[in-house]
Parts: sequence; structure tokens; C-alpha cells
Amino acid sequence: MTNLNKYLTSAVAGGLMGAAVALLLAPRSGKESRTQLREKGLAFMARSAAQKVKVSNWGNYPKIEAKIHYFDDVEQLRHLLNQLPTVIARGNGGCYGDSALAPQIISTLHYNKFLSFDDEQGIIRCQAGVLLSELLEIIVPRGWFLPVTPGTKLITVGGAIASDVHGKSQHKAGNFSDHLLEMELMLADGQVVKCSAKSDETLFWTTCGGMGLTGVILNATMKLIPIETAYFCQDTIKAKNLDHLMDLFEESEPWPYSVAWIDCLTKGNSMGRGVLMRGDHAKFKDLETERQRQNPLVPPTELRLLVPFNFPEFALNSLTVKAFNFLYYHKQIQDVVKSVVDYNSFFYPLDIIYKWNRIYGQRGFTQYQFILPKEKSRAGMKVILQKIVERGMGSFLAVLKLYGDQHGTLPFAMKGYSLALDFPIRDELFDFLDELDKIVLSYGGRLYLTKDARMSKEMFRQTYPDANKFITNMKKINQNNKFRSLQSDRIGLT
Ligand SMILES: Cc1cc2nc3c(=O)[nH]c(=O)nc-3n(C[C@H](O)[C@H](O)[C@H](O)COP(=O)(O)OP(=O)(O)OC[C@H]3O[C@@H](n4cnc5c(N)ncnc54)[C@H](O)[C@@H]3O)c2cc1C
Repeated sequence: MTNLNKYLTSAVAGGLMGAAVALLLAPRSGKESRTQLREKGLAFMARSAAQKVKVSNWGNYPKIEAKIHYFDDVEQLRHLLNQLPTVIARGNGGCYGDSALAPQIISTLHYNKFLSFDDEQGIIRCQAGVLLSELLEIIVPRGWFLPVTPGTKLITVGGAIASDVHGKSQHKAGNFSDHLLEMELMLADGQVVKCSAKSDETLFWTTCGGMGLTGVILNATMKLIPIETAYFCQDTIKAKNLDHLMDLFEESEPWPYSVAWIDCLTKGNSMGRGVLMRGDHAKFKDLETERQRQNPLVPPTELRLLVPFNFPEFALNSLTVKAFNFLYYHKQIQDVVKSVVDYNSFFYPLDIIYKWNRIYGQRGFTQYQFILPKEKSRAGMKVILQKIVERGMGSFLAVLKLYGDQHGTLPFAMKGYSLALDFPIRDELFDFLDELDKIVLSYGGRLYLTKDARMSKEMFRQTYPDANKFITNMKKINQNNKFRSLQSDRIGLT
């Protein structure tokens, strides 16, 4: 029996996740999924305006009963802010934890118009409820791209600003807000104000990455980058362990985009083995096929698959995660593969599987994303990986990335490495994550707020050095604590 077969057989015995995915994934057309996504969101909002509904974000943890309100224009929003004692804004619920959860939620999904597009200069202005996927549909065929995009395009512009999201380009291009020319937001008293990095800098940088605690972002003006094609030249490089992977990252620093998947269940000399992906925008001359050359700015239609229901808890265990990691690492035989791929495959491989969060079952999951300073990353990551291996708490989505600094008063990024790990919610998980917190703290690191569902107030205060400055600035803006979420209460921001 080959190694591969051995792994598959044992994984079947443990409730084979890979096969289950293959059986349960139903093909869908890209168009249907996109439209359906927004329609479903809106139908949900309409239903929930009248009554309390169960709501959660991407991790499906925590789930709460809340009332969701939506608005089409600023008057309706002003009316809502006037009526409701406390609220939090919500975009597409793409944060993993509880930062967009509160008993009263204001959804921006109806507030989604494009306002202007200067396609000579690459400057676009739109309302906060526009999804990045909708932005890309407009800008890519006209030769423009977002300078910063996270690993999903199914989030809103407002959510991207409030979490100040980043992507594979963080070490070169910074965060989403670094490319924001201006925005307007509605404050607690219903006033609409404009701000930018040049005018009302404090309001701007308290709002960018401020997790919705300054007001409801209404619209944004963004600077785009020019592209010749909708494609990327990508190198996929296998690394035999963590040190090798980090060497590859450092050698790839001049590349505009880089990220790595790591196998977090291997031990010994192979601990932290992984696959680094680095890339750059393809020029017309780089395109490889007739199809690409005929329509250089139009990517192929996306294949869409659906996970139709929540998987049972037993489907995800250390055996299935091991099997997945083994297959993923060995699917590429050569050490280096060069290819030209469209932007959806390059940035958003997970978006192909609609509702992939259901594989974690009814109880949901949490993403533990931490960052460590560069000089301590090698040692600290090894300690954390060792803990994960010992406890068999592997995650098949383990994403490593080299970062640069970030603006703002609550920046997650620093010069260093971040690792993002997905863990299904289990009784023993929270004690384990508390143990990881201690290690992260001791190495001078911190956790990413937009993924967090459980960090303590103490951990937050000790790891975000400008927390007090943020609170002082935010409290002057957020009158009567109008804007608050489950997260902001938990970590002591409100
Ligand atoms: C598959 C997947 C991959 C991801 N990859 C990355 C990644 O690579 N990098 C990264 O940085 N993030 C990543 N994320 C996280 C995601 O980009 C952020 O959580 C983002 O903020 C979600 O946007 P949203 O529109 O869904 O906002 P929500 O999740 O609804 O809200 C997030 C926060 O923004 C606030 N907010 C939303 N809209 C407004 C508004 N109009 N005004 C004021 N506040 C508002 C909310 O109050 C909340 O605090 C990923 C998420 C998923 C599901």
C-alpha cells in the first residue's frame, strides 16, 4: 500500500472528510451563487427587521438572537440611530467572531450603489454595502484592480475599512485603508462627516481598523492600481520545514504577493513544512493560452460548489486533517511550479466552495490568527506548532504570511509573521487557546480582532500598545457608547 492509500484508508475509518466533501459538494454556476448570496442576505434582513433572528458571522460561533435593521438612504439610517440606544454596523458577516454582533445590528447590505468611477485615474467611489466581488466586476474589465484584497471577495467595502483588512500584498502595499482617499460616515448623533488621512486624521485612523465603533461608514473613495490582464504569474514552491519556508518568504520579499499554507501536524525535521505561493500581475506577454489572450481582462467563469449542510462533528478529526494535509503537500510533485492563473484562483480559492464554513458542523469554528515580531517568529512559531502537534489540534487551513507595519491605532500587523489556524469549536478548545495566548504574549505578539471570538480583556490590553489611545479617541467620537458589539464589550473597548 502506498503512503497515500494508507492515509486515505485510515481517514475513511475516522469519517473521511475529503471524500465527504467530494460527495456533498454540489456544482453551482458562478452567476447563480453571486446573485443568490446577496438575495439571501437581503431576504434574511427583511425577515429579521420584524423579529429577532439567530445570527452569527463566518465562524458560526457565537450565535446570538438579534434584531437586524437595514436602510436604503441616510434619512432611514439617521432615524434608526435616533431610535435605537446601541447598535453595531454589519457588512456581509465575513468576520469570524463577534465583532459584527450585538442585540441591535444595522446591516449595510441595502446601501450598495456605485457613485462614480474615473477610469482614467483609477478612482472609484461607492456606498459601504458594495461587495468587493461587485467592485471587481466593474473595475477589472476596465484595467484596474484593488491594491489590497483579503482571501475572500465576499465582504463589503465598509467591512474592509472597519477591519482595515489586508492580503497577500500586506508586506508591500499595506492595508485596505492605505489606499482610501476619503470616506463619509454617520456619527452617533446622525451627523454625516467626511474624513481622510489628510483631513480629520484622528477620525480617519480611529475608523480604519476601529471595528465599527466610531459610526456607520457610508461611502468610500478608493485608489486602484492599473493592470494589463486579469491574470497572475504564480510560483508555487514546496518547503521542507518551517525554517525553509521562512527563508523562502524572506527571499520572496521583492514579490508583491506572497502567502504560504503550512501542514501544522508534522513533527521533527518536517515540522512546519508547507507550500509558498508568490506572484505578480501578469502582463499581456505572459499569457499562455489563446483564451487568455483573446480576453485578457476577463477571467474564465468561476466554478462554484456548495457544501449543502453542516457536517457532523466526527467528520473533522486529527486523522482527516492529517489526510488533507498529506494530500495537499504531496499533490505537487516538483519543488517549484510556475503557472499563470486568473485572479479568482490566485486570491480567492476558498470562495469557490460556497458555505465552506459548514464543514465545521453545527457548533461552528474559530480562527486563531496571531502575529509575532520577526526577530522572535522562528522560535515562537516552533513553540506553538509543537503545542499543536502534541495536542493533535491540527487545522487544515493554516496560513503563514510575512508582514510589514500597519497604520492606525489598533493595528494588527507589525514586521513579523502571522499564522492563521481554524479550529472547530470543541469543549477542550478554549483552554488550549488560552495556553496559546500565553505563548503569543510571551513572544510579543497579538491576535487579529476581525477573526477573534474569545480573547480576554487582559490579553487585548497587554498586546495592543495603543489600546488606551484608541479608547480615548473613540470615546470622544462614539457618544453615549452608541456603537458597541459583543467583542467591544468583551475586550473592554466599550
Ligand atoms: C474566507 C475568508 C477569508 C478571509 N481572509 C482575510 C484576509 O486574508 N485578510 C483579512 O484581513 N481578513 C480576512 N477575512 C476577514 C474579513 O475580510 C473581515 O472580517 C471583513 O471585515 C469582513 O467584512 P464584512 O463586510 O463581512 O463585515 P462584517 O464581518 O459584517 O463586519 C466586520 C467589522 O466591520 C464593521 N463594519 C462593517 N461594515 C461597517 C460599516 N459600514 N461601518 C462601520 N463599521 C462596519 C463591523 O461592525 C465589524 O466590526 C476573511 C474572511 C473570510 C470569510
